[in-house]
Amino acid sequence: MGDFTVEHSIIAEIAAGYGAKILYNEKIAGYTSFNIGGVCDTIVMPGSADCIRELVTACRENGIKYYIFGKCTNVLISDSGLRGVVILIGNEYSAVKREGNCLICEAGAPLIKVCNAARDAGLTGLEFAYGIPGSAGGALYMNAGAYGGEMKDVVVYCEYLDSDGSVKRMEAADMDLSYRRSVFTGSDKVILSVCFRLSEGDPEAITGKMAETMQKRRDKQPLEYPSAGSTFKRPEGCFAAKLIEDSGLKGYTRGGAQVSEKHSGFVINRGGATCKDVCDIISDIQAKVFADSGVKLECELIPVE
Ligand SMILES: Cc1cc2nc3c(=O)[nH]c(=O)nc-3n(C[C@H](O)[C@H](O)[C@H](O)COP(=O)(O)OP(=O)(O)OC[C@H]3O[C@@H](n4cnc5c(N)ncnc54)[C@H](O)[C@@H]3O)c2cc1C
Repeated sequence: MGDFTVEHSIIAEIAAGYGAKILYNEKIAGYTSFNIGGVCDTIVMPGSADCIRELVTACRENGIKYYIFGKCTNVLISDSGLRGVVILIGNEYSAVKREGNCLICEAGAPLIKVCNAARDAGLTGLEFAYGIPGSAGGALYMNAGAYGGEMKDVVVYCEYLDSDGSVKRMEAADMDLSYRRSVFTGSDKVILSVCFRLSEGDPEAITGKMAETMQKRRDKQPLEYPSAGSTFKRPEGCFAAKLIEDSGLKGYTRGGAQVSEKHSGFVINRGGATCKDVCDIISDIQAKVFADSGVKLECELIPVE
């Protein structure tokens, strides 16, 4: 681990050419909302679409393993870290531009920033997303949603890097957006920017709706602890949190991981939780809920190793 190999030097050269931040042998935990994840060989934080394209192309052409993340708020990263190159598309690539009633956002733009930009422009439609801690790119990948809204309702098109290294545009109708899934799920396409269409609204009403949404989150979710949000997808016709609670698992603990006492749908990091603790607690929850109710809980968070 940590050898400055030829592979690393190719990536280092590209990063240097674009002035992108690059880190070696860096623990990724501090970059994730779960505060979990081991030491990674190389982490790059690109600041432009060209830099992303060159990094990804170099990795593909040289057989270097690579990972694309946004704000790392829906991933559970291995305690052994990740080999190869981790490309974090975050604050460094996060400009938000208004065009009429649309906001065109670089993929790393935090949703909070996008929602604030919509409010400042007097545009309504994104209030539901206020408080989802991910990036525009990550949110589109996941078709993130809350309180009756989802990305599907507001996305018009995106630009993405395709498997052949070319930059393309895709309209929302072609994205197969469904519950926490999109055409990007499991593919090697990299989302570069997202266009949201909103409508003119009353700034005071927008501000009020955003505050209300945030208050609901504060009241119901264990925001005081690191987590990856809802651990499981919503099963057909019921709620994961209710099934978990009915199985008597509220507060159940494995190592530093715990089923939140405030919201049983969240596994939280009570302090020092490892990826293994979280994987163990997830297996226990799935087994007990299945035994009690016959429902198979499917993970919403994405384990990465
Ligand atoms: C406290 C809390 C509350 C949450 N509440 C909600 C909620 O209400 N609703 C909801 O839907 N989610 C919620 N989440 C989960 C999470 O914030 C969303 O899924 C979010 O959209 C993930 O964005 P991200 O940038 O963090 O993606 P990451 O976690 O970095 O990545 C998630 C997946 O997207 C891929 N990806 C990320 N960026 C790109 C890109 N540019 N191109 C291609 N692939 C990419 C990654 O490879 C990975 O597979 C919550 C999480 C937390 C911690």
